[in-house]
Amino acid sequence: MADKRDYYEVLGVEKSASDDEIKKAYRKLAKKYHPDVNPGDKDAEAKFKEVGEAYEVLSDSTKRSRYDQFGHAGVDPSYGAGAGAGGFGFDDMDLGDLFGSFFGGGFGGSTRARNPNGPIRGRDIALNISLSFEEAALGCKKEVTIPHLSTCASCAGSGAKKGTSPEVCPTCGGLGTIRATERTMLGMMQVQKTCPHCGGRGKIIKEPCPDCNGQGRVRKNSKLSVTVPAGINHGQTFSLRGQGDAGQNGGPAGDANITVSVRPHELFERDGYDVWCDIPITFLQATLGDEITVPTLEGKVKYNVPEGTQPQTVFRLKGRGVPYLNGRGKGDQFVRVSVEVPRSLNSKQKQALRDFEETLSERNYEKRKGFFERLKDTMRGND
Ligand SMILES: [Zn+2]
Ligand SMILES: [Zn+2]
Repeated sequence: MADKRDYYEVLGVEKSASDDEIKKAYRKLAKKYHPDVNPGDKDAEAKFKEVGEAYEVLSDSTKRSRYDQFGHAGVDPSYGAGAGAGGFGFDDMDLGDLFGSFFGGGFGGSTRARNPNGPIRGRDIALNISLSFEEAALGCKKEVTIPHLSTCASCAGSGAKKGTSPEVCPTCGGLGTIRATERTMLGMMQVQKTCPHCGGRGKIIKEPCPDCNGQGRVRKNSKLSVTVPAGINHGQTFSLRGQGDAGQNGGPAGDANITVSVRPHELFERDGYDVWCDIPITFLQATLGDEITVPTLEGKVKYNVPEGTQPQTVFRLKGRGVPYLNGRGKGDQFVRVSVEVPRSLNSKQKQALRDFEETLSERNYEKRKGFFERLKDTMRGND
């Protein structure tokens, strides 16, 4: 379950793919992996299922936006806690840089140099927020401050001073790399090198924008009102699309990935989507039965404890738990009663209890009766 593949990856489409692109990708793959086309091929069968599942979510705008925000946990309540939304790890830019630094230069022709003027996606930002038990269970609105790089307003991201614009580097013609001939052990060779004039950027900024020092982006703390979805749990992450660092050269912004930490509650404990709570009742309530008041996430409810309730009995209040993250249905509330034995009795009260006990017989104490019978058998076995 934990290594479920990203649905966009399954269909081989971009996160920004249109409905039409998703439909086309699905039809192509469904045809390719269809059991009729691949009789007896288990691998194809699994792929066919996976493709269908991905399409079911991504073709439904509601499900797709839940999936975008919360990943698999957003569309499948049984998906484990902590399963964050997609979008972590390397983005295209990281990989580009990585390969660039390994294979760039020297090995002319073996890799295509990344266009320095091409769009670059902004980086994702990771943030934590602290929520009360109720806020996480029932959902809430939170003010969040996101420290990120935002597009410089003065130069609209170009990095060039207002009224000027960056010029294409005359040395490399905007490519960021130049070809040079070098003497090597194997003789003269053509190699590709980073352009020394523009440092690989492909453009020259004669007068940098003073507000961003020619970077095109500025550090900024953006305040946002965020809707925290009902049902989110401690350690889970949801994404705010496009709220990370601004992109460059027209590239899309990264995401802000918000991880939730939930403070413990005085009365409630959470187990997945179920809520547990302990309620002490009196010896008399347990014996005779009584209507007790039970706190739930959505206010108090009455519950009839039946006559003869034993300590540690657990009652289930169906549908009184935490709403599922996918918006359909709720968990249950479990109430465990503990029976409190009265203390500091006066002699009159003690006598009243003894008089009462006198009237009882084995019939009133099933457990004890069973225990002593078993004890007798055990002792006999030891002789
Ligand atoms: Zn600027
Ligand atoms: Zn250049």
